[in-house]
Amino acid sequence: VPSTDYRVPRIYLDNNATTSLDPRVAETMLSCFQAGPANPSSQHQFGQRARAWIDDAVDRMGTALGTQFGRPGGPRLVFTSGGTESNNLALRGIGGNGPLVVSTIEHSSILATARVLERQGREVRWLQVDQQGEIDLKHLEHLLLATAERPSLVSVMSANNETGVVQPVDRIAALCKSAGVPLHLDATQTIGKLPCSLDQWGAAAVSFTAHKFHGPTGIGALWLNSGQRPAPLLFGGEQQLETRPGTEPVPLIVGMSLALSLAADEASSSQDRVRHLRDRLESGLLERFPELVVQGVTKTRLPGTTCISFLGADRQAMLMALDLAGICCSSGSACSSGSSPPSHVLSAMQRPEEEIRSTMRFAVSKFSTMEEVDLSIDAISSVYSRLRRKISVDKS
Ligand code: PLP
Repeated sequence: VPSTDYRVPRIYLDNNATTSLDPRVAETMLSCFQAGPANPSSQHQFGQRARAWIDDAVDRMGTALGTQFGRPGGPRLVFTSGGTESNNLALRGIGGNGPLVVSTIEHSSILATARVLERQGREVRWLQVDQQGEIDLKHLEHLLLATAERPSLVSVMSANNETGVVQPVDRIAALCKSAGVPLHLDATQTIGKLPCSLDQWGAAAVSFTAHKFHGPTGIGALWLNSGQRPAPLLFGGEQQLETRPGTEPVPLIVGMSLALSLAADEASSSQDRVRHLRDRLESGLLERFPELVVQGVTKTRLPGTTCISFLGADRQAMLMALDLAGICCSSGSACSSGSSPPSHVLSAMQRPEEEIRSTMRFAVSKFSTMEEVDLSIDAISSVYSRLRRKISVDKS
């Protein structure tokens, strides 16, 4: 791996984009990679061993996710390459071709898929959110019931990747259930960060990805409730009941399972710690700049996420200056921050233009430290003071 000689120490506050691999997971995966061939479809002993590893990994994931696998006809997991593929599989494969209900704050892997389906002639109904980024349940009810044709699928995220706002999953599921419409949840930002009990959520399918909870990149899953058999995106062998053919990546599955078990086992201590660090970052900045706007602050949010509008500054300029100062954060979702169009999430929340152009996202993890947060408060404050002054001078 090429090494990069960073001139300043890096503080990583971009844990909603991806997380660092937990060293315990890295070690386990390495021994799995080194253990020899591992194609679980092979009938010889290497194959049988690989199958046993997968079975064990799935059992452990069931415990961590509050769902029981292995019952005939019961819930099952389909391994994919990550959240994007899981979301595509759910949107294209579940519920048939009737109208699709999708919220306006979804991740691009949902939005772009919905737009492609729309262009191909499928009706897409766009579900609104309120100004704090929470799904408008009255609007959902309307889209489910007050229209001629009943939707064939509702797809919403359980928590937003930019604001961290946690959606009222129970109430969304209850509305879908009473309308008889299957629900897909993109839980990519929730699983591994908040306790969850998939059997209780009442969804037809749930997407998640390991790299958001200190597992490896390149592996995710779609949890399928009893009776769900999505139409496949890929065709090939008989693996995963033909829902997702291709040789299963055994070391990645083992790594995802361990990362999830660790997240679940350590949840009670790490969640409080992470929330404390996030609150300290937020309050440290607000004490110095009371005019800052914290997006979604009146709602339940992911413990590690804060999304802050630095009024009077430009988010891209802030991002670059912070990077030079050693702070890694983002000015929106990681998938769009390369080109940095204005956040579709904040636009959907109908936030004022000034907030949209100045909003930054910070996300701490269980590996973040108090010292890092305190250094970040100083660095962010000095960058903001500098850029805000410059912009107001430029304007005058
Ligand atoms: N859904 C949400 C809410 C996300 O935050 C992300 C990643 O940023 C994805 C889906 C896509 O996941 P992946 O990068 O594993 O494809």
